[in-house]
Amino acid sequence: MTTQLTITRIKLPLANAYLVQGERPILVDAGAPGDADRIARALAQKHIRPADLALILLTHGHGDHVGAANELATASGAPLALHCADDAMARSGRNVLGALNGLEARMIAPFVNKPFPPVAASILLDAPLDLRAYGVAGEVIATPGHTAGSVSIFFDNGDAIVGDLLMGGRMGGALWSSQPRLHYFVADFAQLAKSIATVLARRPQRLLVGHGGPLAADAVQAWSKANQLAR
Ligand SMILES: [Zn+2]
Ligand SMILES: [Zn+2]
Repeated sequence: MTTQLTITRIKLPLANAYLVQGERPILVDAGAPGDADRIARALAQKHIRPADLALILLTHGHGDHVGAANELATASGAPLALHCADDAMARSGRNVLGALNGLEARMIAPFVNKPFPPVAASILLDAPLDLRAYGVAGEVIATPGHTAGSVSIFFDNGDAIVGDLLMGGRMGGALWSSQPRLHYFVADFAQLAKSIATVLARRPQRLLVGHGGPLAADAVQAWSKANQLAR
């Protein structure tokens, strides 16, 4: 199947969401609480109504990625997918941050770690998901580490959306956004290293991240080698 695939970054105040347009459009991540209108406007720029969305896929259960999920799910009628290992966090409306990685993380945590409207996903992933059922040539696989239920999406065009597996740049991606960095919060370092290796082994060309980016896969490879995160 060689369908057209277009991925558009929706830059929100805290995080990125992505509009993926295949035969049908899907939305990856749903911003922070209060971002629903911004996302709807970004869709409208591409002549897409919320009701056109075939799926809303959440890369993980943190509030800056699921914050407007309820509003968007209601507006669109689209199913809401999340990995089952982040279900409890999403339902609780409270972030589980794990280890705070460095000084910047400790400075930033009080600002980003706000409660969010509890989210109950209608599709709980516990195995790889082929997105062709939703009109998009791509596959979702589990890449835990940042959170237990983090996922990455691999598209046939060489792009991968990896959520908060890594971050681009400093200050939430405001500076040096194409430089790979560890995210501020890591639930499990060993799992994270394994997941980075898993992602790179699938040989994507670009990694689209939750903050900053995009990251060239070559840059991530070099960075992870230098940091002994992945072979
Ligand atoms: Zn996160
Ligand atoms: Zn995030």
